[in-house]
Amino acid sequence: MKLYSTNNHDLNVDFPTAVFNSMPLDKGLYMPVNVPLLDEEFIQNIHKYGLPEIAFKVAATLLDGAIPLDDLKKIVEDTLSFDAPVVELAENTYVLELFHGPSLAFKDFGARFMSRVMAYFLKDGEQMLDVLVATSGDTGGAVALGFLGVPNTRVTILYPQGKVSEIQELQLCTNGHNIHAIAVDGTFDDCQQLVKQAFADVSLNEKLRLTSANSINIARLIPQTFYYFNAYARLRRAGKTAVVFSVPSGNFGNIAAGLLAYKMGLPVKRFIAATNVNDTVPRYLATGIYETRPSVQTYANAMDVGAPSNWVRIMDLFNQDREALKKLLKSYTYTDAQTLAGIQSIYDQFGYIACPHTAIAALALQDYKKENPQENAAGVFLSTAQACKFPDVFPAELAAKIKIPAVVQELDLKSKKMEKMDTAYSSFRNYLAKFYENA
Ligand SMILES: *Cc1c(COP(=O)(O)O)cnc(C)c1O
Repeated sequence: MKLYSTNNHDLNVDFPTAVFNSMPLDKGLYMPVNVPLLDEEFIQNIHKYGLPEIAFKVAATLLDGAIPLDDLKKIVEDTLSFDAPVVELAENTYVLELFHGPSLAFKDFGARFMSRVMAYFLKDGEQMLDVLVATSGDTGGAVALGFLGVPNTRVTILYPQGKVSEIQELQLCTNGHNIHAIAVDGTFDDCQQLVKQAFADVSLNEKLRLTSANSINIARLIPQTFYYFNAYARLRRAGKTAVVFSVPSGNFGNIAAGLLAYKMGLPVKRFIAATNVNDTVPRYLATGIYETRPSVQTYANAMDVGAPSNWVRIMDLFNQDREALKKLLKSYTYTDAQTLAGIQSIYDQFGYIACPHTAIAALALQDYKKENPQENAAGVFLSTAQACKFPDVFPAELAAKIKIPAVVQELDLKSKKMEKMDTAYSSFRNYLAKFYENA
């Protein structure tokens, strides 16, 4: 597998380089030079396979020899220690549940695959790998649990203080071992900026072997294609051939993976990008003007992103052709008030409790269906997190109905440990300097 940079199409690196660099020095993002098509026979028969088989086939096709097949198979199977079920809520309305992993959010797919790929490529006795990750809530937990105890790795998580839920903060700050948490007095974009600056800091990179675990890492993106193929397979088994996916979107990694799956031959009729009021992409699709804005805090806090990093990948996948993209990709935006009302109406209609992110995807699917009544497609909205991660959002009556998994109950008993920090890069730089000064 060869990868180029979205800022330099002549660049050509191998998979391990892209995984460990995370971001090219030109600050573009890595993308596969070749997006291989899955063979038609596999797609025709996809309903006969289960998630691990589908995932292995997709990974093997995309990685194209970057990891020997026997090893890749182990990595894929170890990543997928949990299922991604497609649940029917009503005729042609389905929810793809992606929250059955250890951190109760879909980011477990990416984080588990990436940590295992990195561990596979790390050779014994090599320099410590420092994983830096900015999180608006869910990434940190997934990454922490993905890397916890992985030898030769150290994870530093930056999160916006007071802007993540109590459960999220517990997931970030109670791990100990090789996991460190920093509460930044700022927004998610500030956290992301600090991490980006660290990667661009030449002298720092001479001292520490830095890598990122944000959704910009190509190893995070790849495993997210697996569940699109698998959801399609499950629907095919149920006799459906036309499928629409509605994806709650923040940094646009999840939907970028869906679109990558599409380019690999997954026959999806339409994708829907569902956002909160951080609507940079919906505005772009409507007007042709791409204008990022500072992020605004919402109930769907993992989607509070004003400058979605993965958008450049999507534009590259479609050769910068906005018109082509608009045919395949619709987008909808919802306020907090609409999200709350949506949570209630999803419960009233289906008896289903959706987290705020999931509710936004469900609303977008509903609005899309209203606008396309003649289209007889199976609509699937992606459920990206367990509702219990966002208890404060729900009205008391609904909150009382949310089942709290045992892993969460255990978290409550642990004590949190984190460093507090302002948004100045010098503060973060000083913090990281201790890693090599003390080494
Ligand atoms: C991260 C996250 C999202 C947004 O996913 P992107 O890949 O950043 O678009 C949506 N919902 C939840 C629960 C998340 O944690």
